Amino acid sequence: MAARFQPAQPYTGSMFRLGLPSRTGPTAFFVLICLIAPPSAARAWGNNGHRMINRLAVSGLPTDVPTFLRSETALNEIEYLGPEPDRWRSPAEPELNAAQAPEHFINLELADALGPLPHRRLLFEARVFAAGELPEKIGLQPWQTTEVWERLKAALREYRHLAAANQDTHPVEQAILFYVGWLGHYVGDGSQPLHTTIQYNGWIGPNPHDYTTSQKIHWQFEGPFVDANIHMPEVQAKMSPLQPIHGDIFDAYVDYLRHSATYVEEVYQLEKSGGFVGAGSAESRAFTTERLADGASMLRNMIYSAWLQSAQIVPDPYAGK
Ligand SMILES: [Zn+2]
Ligand SMILES: [Zn+2]
Repeated sequence: MAARFQPAQPYTGSMFRLGLPSRTGPTAFFVLICLIAPPSAARAWGNNGHRMINRLAVSGLPTDVPTFLRSETALNEIEYLGPEPDRWRSPAEPELNAAQAPEHFINLELADALGPLPHRRLLFEARVFAAGELPEKIGLQPWQTTEVWERLKAALREYRHLAAANQDTHPVEQAILFYVGWLGHYVGDGSQPLHTTIQYNGWIGPNPHDYTTSQKIHWQFEGPFVDANIHMPEVQAKMSPLQPIHGDIFDAYVDYLRHSATYVEEVYQLEKSGGFVGAGSAESRAFTTERLADGASMLRNMIYSAWLQSAQIVPDPYAGK
């Protein structure tokens, strides 16, 4: 929804040189890049993109996933929840708005300048604060996504316990639908290349290809262009085959974000050739369709992996207490 999108402050930095930080001396690079990186505005696929990703992911779950999660009622609820975290951006809820805003993106250039990404949110935040910076400038995407996925896995484990004990599973089913829908939002954000970079809304720094510096590209691409041109059947057709995630979920998710980040320049190239105006071009429509399909595929794989891994026996933390 265009009304929700708040343009960032104009870029006023100068003399910026984008170079690879050295392993031993990232601090100067980091400080410089933070000074010129615009503050992060409201950022997400629009309503339609998020709804599409959530619905397609759940539609693609295999039949060994319980039917309550694949029913039409579940699909409608999970689709509705696609844009849910964007409903938490109102000035009427200022504390929530401020706390959750960084969970929609990560500026990988800034995060990587601080060293390998730790798996735990608080360790990363401690590192950010120690560098004299704030998490809201860098983003917390992979931590939020991993934590919500783990909530989903815990709820699915509870579902298995209740079902095995012949107890009422309806209450936990409701929780699971919420976790799936909530998770879908962030995984969807992660397939939008401009959610992974300091180049999130207008090119900053050296600009030899003369990419747009206007702070319109982000919303133009993910909002009105998607709404007008991208349709669910084409996105569904581009989804990859089901592939459960066996390794570490945080690492797999960061790999997915890094893959999205490889498309940042392509977004700018397409914008430069008018690809996000009106009906765009065959190339820009295919590109955008593939990005949404990547989000839906990853979300489906993550939900399925949570289901499979929820079968693992874990020690009861309260046993003997
Ligand atoms: Zn978002
Ligand atoms: Zn966005």
